[in-house]
Amino acid sequence: MRFQPTEVLFSPTADCNLDCPHCTTKKSHQKLSIKVAGDFLSGCCKTGVKRVGFTGGEPFLNPEFLYSITRRAVEEGMLFDRITTNGVWYKNKAELKSVLERLRASGYDGDICVSVDAFHRQSLKKLALFVEIAALVWNRPDIVSIAFVGKALESATRKKLKHLARLVSKGVMLKKIKIDISPIGKASRFRTPWGKKWFKDDYCAGPGNTLFVLPSGDVKPCCGYATDSDRLTIGNIRRDSASDIIERAGNDHFITAVFGAGLGKIRINMEKSGFKFPRKTDNHCFFCHYLLTEVPRDLLKKCLRALKFAVSAIALTSILANHSYVYGAEIRLKRSADFKAIEAAVIKKTPIPRWYHEGLFYDGKNMYVANGECGMVWVLDPETGKVLSELEGPGKFTESIIGTGDGKFLLTDWDDEKLYLVNISGKKIFVEKEIFSFSPAHPAGVVLAGERLFVITWTRGFGTKFHILEFDKKFNFIGRVTIKDIMDPAHMAWDGKYLWVTSWFSKTVFRVDINTWEITGSFSSPATKATGIAWDGRYLWITGTYDDLYCMSVS
Ligand code: SF4
Ligand code: SF4
Repeated sequence: MRFQPTEVLFSPTADCNLDCPHCTTKKSHQKLSIKVAGDFLSGCCKTGVKRVGFTGGEPFLNPEFLYSITRRAVEEGMLFDRITTNGVWYKNKAELKSVLERLRASGYDGDICVSVDAFHRQSLKKLALFVEIAALVWNRPDIVSIAFVGKALESATRKKLKHLARLVSKGVMLKKIKIDISPIGKASRFRTPWGKKWFKDDYCAGPGNTLFVLPSGDVKPCCGYATDSDRLTIGNIRRDSASDIIERAGNDHFITAVFGAGLGKIRINMEKSGFKFPRKTDNHCFFCHYLLTEVPRDLLKKCLRALKFAVSAIALTSILANHSYVYGAEIRLKRSADFKAIEAAVIKKTPIPRWYHEGLFYDGKNMYVANGECGMVWVLDPETGKVLSELEGPGKFTESIIGTGDGKFLLTDWDDEKLYLVNISGKKIFVEKEIFSFSPAHPAGVVLAGERLFVITWTRGFGTKFHILEFDKKFNFIGRVTIKDIMDPAHMAWDGKYLWVTSWFSKTVFRVDINTWEITGSFSSPATKATGIAWDGRYLWITGTYDDLYCMSVS
């Protein structure tokens, strides 16, 4: 673990239309400069930061910032994470609709997270209207998720959430995310910080590994509750570039210790040196805040030095250079005007052992079946379904394996988030070279289409995003295609003319023209939860999670 930011999160203003009793934001009318933030965003992209999000104060009180930075992020080919809002910043329905429509027209396609709990005293009727209009504008019933504060006033929060659920239409989906209150500042009135249990180390998963930019331009390494502390300021976008800031954070003993060694190790080191904490706490950010405000500086310094987890600036920069990529211009996969249903028939169904079947690859004689969830890769006879050999993959979740035509193979691993060039020897698959890290995305299917190589990726978060990434034969990254019209795209086959893409969710197989990036047709998959697909020169072969192998003719 180390500090390696994957997202830039802007707070366009510290202003807010609400005054929540637990709020730690220092309110002011200060606004973040669009020009400075835009240039910083481009710098972030070059260092490998691939996602952008917005938070507050109330970010919709500075809508021009949202439109401009969204347009810039689209130009840079970045992904959107979420906008966190209280959902009631607008004066009337016309204003609400116009702001959201302009944001959509600017290219925003991320999620919207609304804070709703006993602390946020907004009108639920007004909030329900926000949810409805957002779902309508983006034509996405799941675009809004609810973030609520946990471990304080929980029954009042539950009541409020139930009431909101009654106010929104049935088709709208509201995912819930619980964020435990950190008893810091005004919020310390609502929960006692100390208890009987120590936190488990999580290396700041969630709020961490973020370049959080405040309206003043100050940058923090996370959006956790202790960010008020100057000790967590790693630069300012008015004077520092993104790479300078990341480099500085890589040299900061506190940040490298928190993200590298973990808060738990800092605690143990402090106790070993004789420091006594009042009691135990299960809240990371409170503990972090306590270290920064209550522990004598010299003692903390001594303990951090002992951890020796500071990553040298040079090492960090080279890590980022190796793993980063700059996206090309974004293309969207869309249905063609002459999209049609394809006639397809099952020629043969071959029972194969039940497992979490993922990608298929046909080598001219045998079928390779990659199995996720700690499964082996099978080499089987497609006529009988008999497993001829079982191969141990390099990781725990082999998504896909295909031959390169020269005795080597390409393999994607979902958990590792990587594409590997591999060799098979005996019953093992050995990594010859790590080709690409997709982090924070997971790779699914991989396919060679002549001189072009494609990999499907899923980027989890508040609403999964799907892409096809393209590489040339030498594995140089070329660009990416956003997939909107195929839900849960899983694996691909190439028949010499078209790309065939399975959809795990919709039990459908889609035909794609890779010259125009249009979906020209589809047919229903015989495998429920369709995954692997392969072309044998005449027929398509399809499998699915815990399903059999189907040989199909297509018109
Ligand atoms: S909506 Fe958010 S920023 Fe505004 S007062 Fe409440 S907690 Fe603070
Ligand atoms: S523990 Fe500290 S560094 Fe980690 S997220 Fe919380 S405030 Fe940020």
